[in-house]
Amino acid sequence: MSDTYDVIVIGAGPVGENVADRTRAAGLSTAVVESELVGGECSYWACIPSKALLRPPAALAAARAVAGAREAAGGRLDAAAVLARRDSFVSNWEDDGQVSWVESTGADLFRGHGRLDGPRTVTVEAPDGGVRRLTARHAVAVCTGSAAVVPDLPGVADARPWTSREATSAKEVPGRLAVVGGGVVGVEMAAAWAALGSRVTLLMRGDRALPRMEPFAGELVAEGLAAAGVDIRAGVSVTRVDRAGSSGPVTVSLDNGERLDADEILFATGRAPRTTDLGLETVGLEPGSWLETDDALRVQGVEGDWLYAVGDANHRSLLTHQGKYQARVVGSVIAARAAGAPVDGTPWGPHAATADNMAVPQVVFTEPEAASVGLTAREAERAGRRTRVVDYELGDVSGAALYADDYKGRARMIVDLDRNTVVGATFVGPHAGELLHAATVAVTGEVPIDRLWHAVPSFPTMSEIWLRLLETYRG
Ligand SMILES: Cc1cc2nc3c(=O)[nH]c(=O)nc-3n(C[C@H](O)[C@H](O)[C@H](O)COP(=O)(O)OP(=O)(O)OC[C@H]3O[C@@H](n4cnc5c(N)ncnc54)[C@H](O)[C@@H]3O)c2cc1C
Repeated sequence: MSDTYDVIVIGAGPVGENVADRTRAAGLSTAVVESELVGGECSYWACIPSKALLRPPAALAAARAVAGAREAAGGRLDAAAVLARRDSFVSNWEDDGQVSWVESTGADLFRGHGRLDGPRTVTVEAPDGGVRRLTARHAVAVCTGSAAVVPDLPGVADARPWTSREATSAKEVPGRLAVVGGGVVGVEMAAAWAALGSRVTLLMRGDRALPRMEPFAGELVAEGLAAAGVDIRAGVSVTRVDRAGSSGPVTVSLDNGERLDADEILFATGRAPRTTDLGLETVGLEPGSWLETDDALRVQGVEGDWLYAVGDANHRSLLTHQGKYQARVVGSVIAARAAGAPVDGTPWGPHAATADNMAVPQVVFTEPEAASVGLTAREAERAGRRTRVVDYELGDVSGAALYADDYKGRARMIVDLDRNTVVGATFVGPHAGELLHAATVAVTGEVPIDRLWHAVPSFPTMSEIWLRLLETYRG
C-alpha cells in the first residue's frame, strides 16, 4: 500500500464510510482509518441496536391497539428473543460485513488510532503499537463521531454507570433501571427497557421530555411512557450515585432530598466530540472541541481548504442521516476541488449542506412516535418569522382511526405567512414517523401552500392529515 492518498478519512462510522464511497466513486484514492469497529457507533451501539430493541414492543402495541387482533396478542414480550434479534442486527459486534463493503469501494482500510500530524498528514497507531504515516494530496476528512458524556458527580466513577453503549448492548434486563435525561436517548431507552420488563424511573432536570421539540411531543411521549409503567420525575437533578459493593444496587441521590435504588443507572446526558486525542493542536485547533465548519464542511480556522469535518464531529446535527447527507456533499466538494473546479455554494447545489440549517428531520421511536422537521413554533418566533401555527388531532383522520382504536396523536404545521410555505411540522402518534418525509420535502422544496393543495393524499391513509392541516389553514 502506498502511504500517499488523494483523501484520508479518519473514522469509519456511517459518515466516514459514505465519504470514502463518494471519493472513491469520483476516482480518488482513499485511505480509511478506524480504531474500533467499521460501521461506528450507529451500527453497534446507537441507531441500529436501539431501534432493534424498540421494534418488538411497537409491533405488540400496534396489535394490541386493534380489536380482533388484541385478543390474539395477550402475551408478554420474549425478552431473550428480543435481545437475540438485536444481536443479529449488530452482527454480534463483528464488522466483517462492513469491512468487505469498504474494501469493495476500493478504499484501503487501516486499523488503528488516527491522529493529525500537521497539514495533510495522519499517523495511524495500530493495535500492535506500530505507527504508519499517511499523506493526503487533497483532503483529510475527520469523521470521528461523538461519545456519551457522564457528569462528574460524587460516586459516579465507582458506580460504573451505563452510557448509551451499555443501554444498547446489555445482555440482561435489569430489574430496576434509573435513566437520567429526558432527551431522545433517555426516552427511547426508558421505553425499550420498560417494555423488556425493567422497572424504569426517568429522571429529568427540565419540566418535560424532548425539550427541543414542540411541547406537545414531550407531553404525549411522557404519557406513553407513564402508561408503560415508567415512573417519571421531572425537575430533579442527580447529586450523587453510590453502588453497594462491586455488583450491588446503586442508590441515586436527588437534589430534592429523595433517594432511589436501582440495579443500573443510565446517563443519557449529552455527547462530546471524539477529538481529544486527534492531534488537533498540530494544525492550530483546540483538542476536544467540536469542529466548526462552513456549509461545504471545511473546518474553520485552518488554512488551505484541506481539512473537513463531517457527521457528529462537526456538531451541525447529531443524526446519522444528516451526517450521511454531509458525506455526499463533502464527496462532491473534494472531487470538485481535486479537479480544479470551483466549489459552488448555491443553496441547492451539491456543494453545500444547507439542509442542516433549515430542514433536519428526526424521529423518536417511542410509543407514540414523535417526528419533526424544520422550525418549531418557538424557534420560528425567535427567528422573527411571521408565522401561523396550525394544529390538528391525528386521531380525527380516518387512516389513523383505522390504524389503531382510540388513536391518540397530534400534528402541527408552521406556515411562514410571508413566503406562503411550510417551515416546520411535527407529528406525534403511533407510526407517525412515516408521515415525516412528506413534510421534509415540503419544507426543503419550499413548496407554496397553494401548490401543496394539489398534492392529494390517498384515502384512507394517515397522510390525510396533510389535507386536514391545509383545510384548517385555509379556513
Ligand atoms: C442511543 C443512540 C441512538 C441513536 N439513534 C439514532 C437514530 O435512530 N437515527 C439517527 O439518525 N441517529 C441516531 N443516533 C445518532 C447517531 O448514532 C450518530 O449521529 C451517528 O453515529 C454519527 O455518525 P458518525 O459516523 O459521525 O460517528 P460514529 O458513528 O460515532 O463513528 C465514528 C467512528 O470513528 C471512529 N474513531 C473515532 N476516533 C478515531 C480515531 N482517532 N482514529 C480512528 N477512528 C476513530 C470510531 O471508532 C467510530 O467507529 C443515535 C445515537 C445514540 C447514542
